[in-house]
Order: sequence, then structure tokens, then C-alpha cells
Amino acid sequence: MTKQQFDIAIVGSGIVGMATAYEAAKQGLKVAIFERHPRAIGATIRNFGMIWPIGQPVETFDRAMRARQTWLQLSHAAGFWAAKTGALCLAYHDDEMAVLEEFVETRKDSGYQISLLTPEETLAKSKVINAKGLKGALWSATEVNIDPREATQAIHQYLREEMGVAFFYKTAITQIDSPWLSSSEQSWRAERIYVCSGADFETLYPEIFAKSGITKCKLQMMRTTHQPDGWHLGPTLCAGLTLQFYSAFAHCSSLDAVKKRFATDLPAYNEWGIHVLVSQTSFGEITIGDSHEYGLDLSPFDRTDINQLILDYLKTFAAFPRMEIAETWNGIYPKLDGKTEFIAEPEDGVTIVNGVGGAGMTLSFGLAEELLGAGVKVIA
Ligand SMILES: Cc1cc2nc3c(=O)[nH]c(=O)nc-3n(C[C@H](O)[C@H](O)[C@H](O)COP(=O)(O)OP(=O)(O)OC[C@H]3O[C@@H](n4cnc5c(N)ncnc54)[C@H](O)[C@@H]3O)c2cc1C
Repeated sequence: MTKQQFDIAIVGSGIVGMATAYEAAKQGLKVAIFERHPRAIGATIRNFGMIWPIGQPVETFDRAMRARQTWLQLSHAAGFWAAKTGALCLAYHDDEMAVLEEFVETRKDSGYQISLLTPEETLAKSKVINAKGLKGALWSATEVNIDPREATQAIHQYLREEMGVAFFYKTAITQIDSPWLSSSEQSWRAERIYVCSGADFETLYPEIFAKSGITKCKLQMMRTTHQPDGWHLGPTLCAGLTLQFYSAFAHCSSLDAVKKRFATDLPAYNEWGIHVLVSQTSFGEITIGDSHEYGLDLSPFDRTDINQLILDYLKTFAAFPRMEIAETWNGIYPKLDGKTEFIAEPEDGVTIVNGVGGAGMTLSFGLAEELLGAGVKVIA
């Protein structure tokens, strides 16, 4: 084999590309990743770093748990921070508590490690929670918190130095004619090519993306300044608004009452798709988000009123020693309505892996394991 031939070539070095590379390299294949930027700067470094199986419905819970295992193994092998924090979903209204009760009742035998907590038990798990009006919480033991900026860099280095994956940074792949893939300057040959291009639907196979109905979702995010040394958030946190967003809770008939109340009482939150999640980084900052705007013509500009709505809702359930916001940004992920991923084979030898939506960190390692074991059905 010459230097320019690979068993597997991957376009995109976000979590989907990294997970695909990891699985392929584990199988002893010769792998290359092509990344148009000097490093990954897409959704994969812009998220909460929440490996969050509790948000998954029964159908993908096992995939999330296998991915969680890989995250923990890689954290050890590649040397990045990963904390088994668990997660709390807080209830401040009877209708929210009813959803949590229904969820536990219907899912307690499905592998989730969940229980309902009284207000006292909830407050014992976290010192930042607002006690006033607290009805109780859902506790899930399986969630892991990583710092996506640190972890992405560490996994790239591990893939490169320990697993022999070749990285071509600052290399935009502009054409694929299997088995060849090309930048404006050079071509490479690969037996199989995976296109893991995240929110870029415009460069490779634009007609396939256009036909699929896939769209984009923009999220606004914030990060506080460093918290005092040694201060830990503990479990990742969310409250009632989040119940509307994760398909894990979609089967609960009691969710209708919660949705109706939010539609009446907090219309601006529904308008901007806001719910509030809180996680921590390895350096102690608190990551806070988010909003959801959908479409193929998203505004490049962030709105301070959206960030204020997020902070206002946050204050109803939590407060940190330092609330100053040090950073704001947005991230964009692709989403195919009603699907957990978009897999297509535009030509022999090429697979598009995209559309992992708001759970790409939680699911991608599990998805790649299935995909490279040929367990995932191509849908276009
Ligand atoms: C704000 C936010 C918060 C989130 N929070 C969470 C969370 O806590 N937990 C969770 O599970 N999920 C979360 N998600 C979802 C998760 O981050 C995404 O599903 C995931 O990162 C998508 O990964 P990706 O590899 O598809 O895309 P990306 O990370 O965007 O990577 C795609 C890469 O492909 C490169 N590329 C594209 N085209 C080319 C080309 N032609 N040539 C070369 N390179 C190319 C791009 O430069 C980019 O680096 C969140 C997402 C966002 C935006």
C-alpha cells in the first residue's frame, strides 16, 4: 500500500467521525480522517459534554449505555476527565412530578437505573438546588459528564498516536468518486469512505441531503466563570421544561398537562425551544443552555433575550457560587425529524452518517459499533 491508500477514509473529525475511526482502527483497518479546519470546531466541541442515557427511549437506551462504556474506557486510555455524575430532573409542579412518577413506573424494568427522590433526598444530592417549592426529582445513576473541548483533543491525539489513524487537517474534501476522495490539491484512495460532515450539507452530496428532508438546529449556550477551587456541581441538572424535549418521556400520557401549562404560562420558551440543562467542565466552569431554532437559513447572530430567558428559568431551580457568564456561543446540529440518525449510501463504497441530532455525544460510539458491524439499516 502506498501512503495515499486507506481501508477507511472519514470526512469530518467530530464525534461521528471519531467514533467511526475508533471502531475501524480497533478492527485493525488502516484509517484516515480528513478535517477541513485546523481542528474540530463543530457541534462536538460546543456541547454540554453530557453522556445522557436517561434522555433516550427504550429503543436506543442500550446504544447509549454501550457508548457510555466506550467513553469511560477512552477517558482512561486517552487521559481526559470523565465524571460519573448521574443526573437529576427536578419537579416544582405536581404535573411534572406526575410525569416523573409515570416514567419510573413504566421504565423501571427496562434497564434504566432510576428512582424517585423526595425533596429532602434531592437536596442531599446537590447543594445548588432551590429548595423552595421543590416537589421531588427523578434520579438517574448512569449519566457521565465530560468536557467536550478537552475530550475531543485527547481522542484525536489517542487515535493518532496509539491507534495509527492518519489525520489530514486543513483539508476540505470537495469531491468523492469512490474509491477516490479529493481536496482541491490532492486525491486519496479508500476501500470505504464515511462522510461524517455534521452541519455541512452543501459540499458533498448536497442533492442527497436536500432529498432527505434533514434540517439544522441552532442552540445558544453559555458558560460561567470558574467556580471556587474544588467546588463540584455533582449531578447534571434539568427541570420541568426538559421533559418536553427528550423522547424518553414522550410515551408518558401525563406529559400533556405539562405541555399545556408551558404553552400557556411560558410561550416565549416554546417559541425559542428553550429548556435548561446544566453541566460542569473539568476546570470547574458551569455550562448552561439551551435554545432550539430549526431551519436551513439560521441567523448567524445570537439573541441576548434568549440567553436571558435561559438564565431566568435556571434561577428557578439552581444557583452557583459564581453566576458571572464568561462565554456565550452557538452550535448547530443536523436533525432528521423522527429519526435518531441519517444513514445513506450515495454510491458504492460511500456511507453518509449524519443527523445524530441532540444526542450525538450520547449515541455515536454505540452507533459506530453497530454500523461497522453492519447492524444499521441504510435508509436512503
Ligand atoms: C449546543 C449543543 C449542545 C449539545 N449537547 C449535547 C450533549 O450534552 N450530549 C449529547 O449527547 N449531544 C449533544 N449535542 C449534540 C452533539 O454535539 C452532536 O450530535 C454531535 O456533536 C454531532 O457530531 P458530528 O460529528 O456529526 O458533527 P460536527 O461535530 O459538527 O463535526 C463535523 C466535522 O466535519 C467537518 N467537515 C464537514 N465537511 C467537511 C469536508 N467536506 N471536508 C473536511 N471536513 C469536513 C467539519 O469541519 C466538522 O469538524 C449538542 C449539540 C449542540 C450544538
